[in-house]
Amino acid sequence: MSIAKLEYGKTGRDHRRTGPDAVPGLDGIPGGKRLRVVHDHEKVDLPGAESAVRDLLLALGRDPSSPHLADTPRRVAESLAEMLTPREFDLTTFPNDEHYDELVLARSIPVQSLCEHHMLPFTGVAHVGYLPGERILGLSKLARVVELFARDLQVQERLTVQVASWLQEHLAPKGVGVVIEAEHMCMSLRGVRAVGSRTITSSVHGVLREDARSRQEFFTLTRGA
Ligand SMILES: [Zn+2]
Repeated sequence: MSIAKLEYGKTGRDHRRTGPDAVPGLDGIPGGKRLRVVHDHEKVDLPGAESAVRDLLLALGRDPSSPHLADTPRRVAESLAEMLTPREFDLTTFPNDEHYDELVLARSIPVQSLCEHHMLPFTGVAHVGYLPGERILGLSKLARVVELFARDLQVQERLTVQVASWLQEHLAPKGVGVVIEAEHMCMSLRGVRAVGSRTITSSVHGVLREDARSRQEFFTLTRGA
């Protein structure tokens, strides 16, 4: 999946903008910069998905015309569409005027995704941290970046790498690290039926990868010590 960039606010001039063009929460902050982030998946074909679910019910030996199941194909199609569509957001960044150079870490960001092998959910938390460079990020945006990649057919390893690489590319921090802990329904409800087992993946870049102390600090903090 690639992610489209729609627009950049003009650095240093946003604070003078007024009227319909004004950006709430960003106007008034000199040097505030925004990047509209949208996904570029094919739009979900809802009627197509609905009829496929009807066929699936038939193939599973169920009767989709029974009153109990009459609305199920539509509901399943709509819930899959929702789970595969991340919300658009503005990636707002600000100049790091205070030269803050310690780790910024958002712990326990919810992760909800669908595994691409079974189309069953995997859920858990992400810990996302970065060492600021020239710019810092609105904190809630770390959660939006996780969602951007999680609302897809995924494997946890790729999701972890995508979040870290995307932040490295778009925020250009001195370092970035992502740890995801998740339980996979395909492991807990079927197969080995390992209920409660969590899979942990990580991806680190820059100083958090190269400098042993920073790396250790990051992983210690993600464990909640
Ligand atoms: Zn799976």
